[in-house]
Amino acid sequence: MNKDDILNLLQTDDPQALFKKADEVRAKYVGDEVHLRGLIEFSNICRNNCLYCGIRKGNSMVHRYRMSEEELIKTAQNAANMGFKTVVLQSGEDLYFDVLRLCHILEEIKKFDVAVTLSIGERTYEEYKAFREAGADRYLMRIETTDQNLYHALDPDMSWQHRYDCLMMIKELGYELGSGIMVGLPNQTMESIADDLLFLKKIGIDMAGIGPFIPHPQTPLAGEAGGTLDLALRTMAVMRLLLPDINIPATTAMESLAPNGRILALQAGANVVMPNVTEGEYRKFYELYPGKICVNETPVACRTCIGTKILAIGRKIGTGYGGHRNIQPIKKEKSPE
Ligand code: SAH
Repeated sequence: MNKDDILNLLQTDDPQALFKKADEVRAKYVGDEVHLRGLIEFSNICRNNCLYCGIRKGNSMVHRYRMSEEELIKTAQNAANMGFKTVVLQSGEDLYFDVLRLCHILEEIKKFDVAVTLSIGERTYEEYKAFREAGADRYLMRIETTDQNLYHALDPDMSWQHRYDCLMMIKELGYELGSGIMVGLPNQTMESIADDLLFLKKIGIDMAGIGPFIPHPQTPLAGEAGGTLDLALRTMAVMRLLLPDINIPATTAMESLAPNGRILALQAGANVVMPNVTEGEYRKFYELYPGKICVNETPVACRTCIGTKILAIGRKIGTGYGGHRNIQPIKKEKSPE
């Protein structure tokens, strides 16, 4: 597929045919299992000021929190006890979690026999290396957009090149690499989305997260239109055709735009869901965008709810770690009781 083919598909008059094709490719290459990842939003403290993001440094209306190390480890343990084979540790760029703290946390969490994905933004090579050695298996960091002008307009004080360099370091260190984009950003064109998809293919990602941009009222982009579920699904479906065997999540932002958004995504190319396993009030304080789903739910309720929906569309819940190409996660010894 070249760029024109991608553009045509993104703008097709028959999106249902595109979704059906992506669903067939998904079934053929990665099967009917839906892999569940327990998402832990462990800190909403962030040093960055991305214009689109609700927890940007400049939003003084956010109630900031940071889980303690014990709390974070306990949350991961609860997720493992609920049957999750992967936990995703996500946060703002909070440097409190330095090598010493995060490596300790990783080493403890790895004792629960789970694969661990980190999603904590830009760090140094030495930090990525230390996290990997402490047991982190995968890393998730969206490039957000490959239009560098757009990126720099939206992420002041950040460098697209630096984010790209980080992705390359992560890959070199042997992590499974997840990246992705938002669609519906102000001044983002279809051409640029087509370029994004080609970029993700070129760098050889193992996982692609694609979500609609949803304007947050406490950010400078409050008045923007935002992305639609339709565009997000189209983009995700084309991603599946371009990279048939990677992991593609039905993203939470999709569900925030429509009550069955994740199920529609699972039927249009997605094979992963990341239910929130964060406890209590933290869920609502980790507000990247408004209308976030399930902020008043418990981890068990979220797991049960999505599990039922997955089975209802004739799919299975993944029982393994669910990594791309079945790379086995790093094993850590269980500590003596
Ligand atoms: N600090 C980490 C995690 C960022 S939050 C990092 O830098 O990777 C995870 C993702 O949420 C972001 O990568 C972005 O794509 C998405 N996001 C942020 N604000 C959003 C918004 N307003 N609407 C939709 N998605 C948003």
